[in-house]
Amino acid sequence: MKPTAFANSSFTGQALFSKSSKCLQSARRISISMTAAGLSRRQILHFGLWFAAASGLSFAKENCHAIAPTELQFTVPPLPYAYNALEPAIDRKTMMLHHDKHFAGYTSKLNAALATLGKNTPPTVEALMALLSNLSKISDISLRTALRNNGGGYLNHKQFFESLAPMPNAEPSGKLRDKILSEFGSIENFKKEFGNQATSLFGSGFAWLVKEKSGNLAIRQYANQDHPSMDNDGSVALLGCDVWEHAYYLRYNNRRNDYIAAWWDVVNWAEVNRRLV
Ligand code: MN
Repeated sequence: MKPTAFANSSFTGQALFSKSSKCLQSARRISISMTAAGLSRRQILHFGLWFAAASGLSFAKENCHAIAPTELQFTVPPLPYAYNALEPAIDRKTMMLHHDKHFAGYTSKLNAALATLGKNTPPTVEALMALLSNLSKISDISLRTALRNNGGGYLNHKQFFESLAPMPNAEPSGKLRDKILSEFGSIENFKKEFGNQATSLFGSGFAWLVKEKSGNLAIRQYANQDHPSMDNDGSVALLGCDVWEHAYYLRYNNRRNDYIAAWWDVVNWAEVNRRLV
């Protein structure tokens, strides 16, 4: 994935970390000096409670006000269109639950996992991709799994919602169209092959169109919330179809085929083309 495509320009982590560190150091110095004065831990605790109440948390407000925890965490990007904008292909209620609950759930669990990891990972897509492409380096299996599921969940859903649009181009154009025609013979054949992968994916996951390191296109199945960046093979994620039941079951029930057929109507080909460049 081109790093600049998903750059988060609002991140000012270095300054915040620096300020946060100073606050913690101040608190630690107070604690150490009280211990040196011969006060028990209990007395120190009582003093701490009094200090916080008496100062009205002004210490935090005046010295640490710039530390908004959310500024160091991944946040759910607003849906770039109305909840009902993709109807009839995707209904309003599914969009609300999918974006506001499922996507948000992956995001908060990703933040929790990153806090456990404790490496001050900037909340940018490129930093997350770099982390996910080297998951094997994380020795704690449960933490590795949490990062895989929720980091993948974050990337998959960010790109999924961005790759849809209410009034999209009906067909791929430009360089993407040329590549599809050259490698799949026709748009129809490409859609058929992609649809076969999406339909036959067992259980929950994503079908992804990727550009491989060689430059060739490929259609791959990914289980659960795995994402092409986890392959660490230089492939670029272009277009992903979410075939978890939460993406379609309210409207389509067991008819995944019908969901995929309608999903083509709302693919934002301009965005997919942008990812290819
Ligand atoms: Mn989903």
